[in-house]
Amino acid sequence: MAFDYDDQNIFAKILRGEIPNTTVAETEHTLAFADIHPQAPVHVLVIPKGPYVCFDHFAAEASDAEIVDFHRVAAQICARISPGAGGAGYRTISNAGTDGVQDVPHYHMHILGGRPLGRMLA
Ligand code: 5GP
Repeated sequence: MAFDYDDQNIFAKILRGEIPNTTVAETEHTLAFADIHPQAPVHVLVIPKGPYVCFDHFAAEASDAEIVDFHRVAAQICARISPGAGGAGYRTISNAGTDGVQDVPHYHMHILGGRPLGRMLA
C-alpha cells in the first residue's frame, strides 16, 4: 500500500500529548475524544494509536488486536445512545482523501448523535 503517514498531523500531535484533548475513552491501541467543532450534541472522534492514514490503510495493515480494540471502543460509545439501549441512535462516518474531504490524515471515525441527523444521501 502506498500511504505516506505525516507525523505532523493534528491527531499525531494529540497522541504525543503535544495538543490537549477531551478524552472520552482510551485503551492500549485506541483513543476517543471530543471533536473541537462538534456538529451534533454528541460528536466523538475515535482514532487508532498507530500511524494509519484512512480506513482501508488501517484495515489492511493494523493487527487484529488493534482492529478489534478500535471497534470495541467505538461500539461502547455508540451503545450509550443506541436504539438497543433505548436511545435515539447515531451515525458513524469516516472520510478519506480529497473526494471524501478528509482534513486530518490520521484515520478516524466520527460518532454523531444527540439530534436528528437528516438523510445522508438524497
Ligand atoms: P475530517 O474532515 O478529517 O473527517 O475531520 C476532522 C475533524 O477533526 C473535524 O471534525 C475537526 O473539527 C476535528 N479537529 C480538527 N482539529 C482538532 C483538534 O485540534 N482537536 C480536536 N479535538 N478535534 C479537531
